Amino acid sequence: MALIYKAANFWRMDRYETFCASILSRLYVDDYTQITEQPLDHARIAVELGKLPKSTPILRRAFYDLARGAGDLLGTMASGDLIILLKLQKKLIYAWNNLSTSSSYPRSSGKCNDCGHGGRHRLNITNIRKKYPFDPLLAIQAILNKDWPEAGFCQTAETEVKEKLNSQRSEIWNSINVWIGL
Ligand SMILES: [Zn+2]
Repeated sequence: MALIYKAANFWRMDRYETFCASILSRLYVDDYTQITEQPLDHARIAVELGKLPKSTPILRRAFYDLARGAGDLLGTMASGDLIILLKLQKKLIYAWNNLSTSSSYPRSSGKCNDCGHGGRHRLNITNIRKKYPFDPLLAIQAILNKDWPEAGFCQTAETEVKEKLNSQRSEIWNSINVWIGL
């Protein structure tokens, strides 16, 4: 399909180009709630195609999938793209460091205003960090899915920390476009 797309783009065959672009945009959906557990195959090719004129917005998801592990064909990537990829991975690690502090409440050393048990409101996210080292977006989803009352969170703390995590998630997704230079 990559070859068809490139050829169609080169020869300005609009029908085929539109066809390929619509397949790509359905695979590399530009929406963080659609990120799949497994990084998509051929993300490297998607990065190349995403830069062609008239292309649908697939670059953000394609780069994110490369950064979190779809690295099968990295050796054949353009050096400019590799630099973008390394920069993105570094930013994703920084984003992870913020997550560690935002999944406890209160974030200072004080006590919870609601129940007074500040020290108890801390989630153990070690396993999530091991599972998603370069994938803070799916990591946040996994953290949100945890059993918060079981982990000792009162309702106030749970609501506040979840709000913070949700806004961090959309912040990260928005920032990716900046990090990859779009
Ligand atoms: Zn509390």
